[in-house]
Amino acid sequence: MNCLITGGNRGIGKEFCKQLALAGNRVFLGSRSLEDGINAINDIKRYSPDIQIQTLQLDVTSINDVQKAYNFLRTEILCLDLLINNAAIMHGSNGVHNEEITILKEAMETNLFGPIRMCQAFLPLLCTSSMPLIVNISSEMGLLSDKEAGGYGAYRLSKSSLNAFTAHLAFDVNNTHVKVIAVCPGWVQTDMGGQNANRTPEISVKEMIHLMNNRELISGKFYRFGEQHPW
Ligand code: NDP
Repeated sequence: MNCLITGGNRGIGKEFCKQLALAGNRVFLGSRSLEDGINAINDIKRYSPDIQIQTLQLDVTSINDVQKAYNFLRTEILCLDLLINNAAIMHGSNGVHNEEITILKEAMETNLFGPIRMCQAFLPLLCTSSMPLIVNISSEMGLLSDKEAGGYGAYRLSKSSLNAFTAHLAFDVNNTHVKVIAVCPGWVQTDMGGQNANRTPEISVKEMIHLMNNRELISGKFYRFGEQHPW
C-alpha cells in the first residue's frame, strides 16, 4: 500500500508512519519542516533500515505545499491507497463564547481546511487505488452526541467541523470506491495529549490500523476504540 500521513514527524502521526512502514507499506511522511521529517525517518529506521519511507515537506495550511506534494507523488506512485489527515493544532482553552476569532480561524485553517485541501488535491490519485481510504483523525472533543465538558472551543469546533466534512465528503464521493472515515485515537501520550494520557501512541495506532484493515468499514462514519460511534 502507498500511504501518506500529514504531521508525520512526531506524536501519533510518526507512530502511524512507523507501524505502516514496518508492515511493508510505502510511506510518505508529511512534515512542515523537512529537517524534522528527516529526523523522524532516521529515528524510525532504527527499527528496520530497509523500510520504504520518505519525507515530504508539507504544511497543510499551504495550498502550494499541498499541490507540490501532489505533483511529486503522482510521478512517484500510480495510486494512493491511504491518506491519513493527522496534522492538527490545539490552541486556546476558552469556550466558543469568548475565544479570540484569530484563534478560532487558526484552528479551522489547520484542522478543517488542511484536510479539505488534502482531500481535494489527492482524490484523483486515491481514485486510482482499488481500495482507497481517507482517515480524518478527529477527537471525541468534537462530538455533539455525548458532550461532557466545555472549553477549548477552537479545537472542539474544528473537530466537529472535520466530522461534518467527513460525512458530507463520503456522500459526495459515493459514486467512487473511496471510503472516508473520522477516527478518534483516544487520549494519547503526545505533546498534545500530555504525559498523563491513558494510552501510548503504540497502542492507539495499532488499534486504528486494525480498524482501517476492516473491510466492513462504513464510509462517512465516526469510529472510536475500534467501534462506530454517533457523531
Ligand atoms: P502533536 O501535537 O503531538 O503533533 C501534531 C502534529 O501535527 C505535528 O507533527 C505537527 O507538526 C503537525 N502539524 C501541526 N500543524 C501542521 C500544519 N499546518 N501542517 C502540517 N503539520 C502540522 O499531536 P498528536 O500526535 O497528539 O495528535 C495527532 C492527531 O490526533 C491530531 O489530529 C489530534 O487532534 C488528534 N488527537 C489527539 C489526541 C491526544 O490525546 N493526543 C486525542 C484526540 C485526538 P510540527 O512538529 O511542525 O508542529
